[in-house]
Amino acid sequence: MNFQLIIISLFLVLSSCNTSDETYGNGIIPSATPKSYQTENVIIVVIDGPRYTETWGDTLHQYQPRLLNSLAAEGTIYTNFYNNGVTYTNPGHTAITTGNYQALDNTGQAIPNHASIFQHWLKDSGADSSKAWLITSKDKLQILANCQDSLWNNSFMPSTNCGVGGNGLGSGYREDSLTFIQIQRILNTHHPKLTLINFKEPDASGHRNDWSAYLDGIRNTDEYVFQIWNMIQNDVVYANKTTMFVTNDHGRHTDGHLDGFISHGDDCSGCRHINLFAAGPDFKKGQILSSNREQVDISATVAELMSFEFSSGKGEVMQELFK
Ligand SMILES: [Zn+2]
Ligand SMILES: [Zn+2]
Repeated sequence: MNFQLIIISLFLVLSSCNTSDETYGNGIIPSATPKSYQTENVIIVVIDGPRYTETWGDTLHQYQPRLLNSLAAEGTIYTNFYNNGVTYTNPGHTAITTGNYQALDNTGQAIPNHASIFQHWLKDSGADSSKAWLITSKDKLQILANCQDSLWNNSFMPSTNCGVGGNGLGSGYREDSLTFIQIQRILNTHHPKLTLINFKEPDASGHRNDWSAYLDGIRNTDEYVFQIWNMIQNDVVYANKTTMFVTNDHGRHTDGHLDGFISHGDDCSGCRHINLFAAGPDFKKGQILSSNREQVDISATVAELMSFEFSSGKGEVMQELFK
């Protein structure tokens, strides 16, 4: 064995000592020293179904004053962020939580194929289920807690508070104002480290063909997001250790479309083009990026921040966010 080979072997041995014994996706060998981040908690907020043209794509930013005036300076906004799969609620959320697009049933009758960030994180961290939460206005999103994969089915599932009374599938859609009360209670009581929140508006009002309630839904969720951000900053457990993503499951049809803002579900630009805002202690502040990114990249970035194995996800880490 020549000297060069010895050095390479030594490097490989040291590399394997410094990293955990997990398998990494795409055969990529992790760097010799695992990165350490300040982030210990992640909160993903999904605002259901606004079009980009009424969120950051509205040049006057009329409906999201908190994002414009307070939050934008704290993190990064993406101007080219997409749902590149099926543009319905359950498939959109599934792309976010599993890092895989699939044509999943949208009624709550089917669970995702692949294990979620919740399951992977709970397994790797050994944390109990009170540390990972799904808090959703739509009862049908309880399906995000489980998956079909036989290695994961019924295992490492997060706690759930979905739909009316938090009672899950079949309970119906809960008002966002009531979901917000549950968010405050659960964050204060359990201090979960990994949380996904869904607000049903503005989607619900869009389907009722109520333009003014649809816009109110965007304004109200903008305010809820701002209040969640303030809760994080004022909580000793969360402050300076928590990363927040705010995004959408899908948009809605473009104005030229037969149904316009009332509906969604195809691959028109209105349905696919959505918003992403990301902020946290490891991310740059005040960026507005035109990089092309998509829903599946969120889970990859969460796995990077919280250092868990996530080889089943198809997304890429959004490196441009990091300091
Ligand atoms: Zn909808
Ligand atoms: Zn469409």
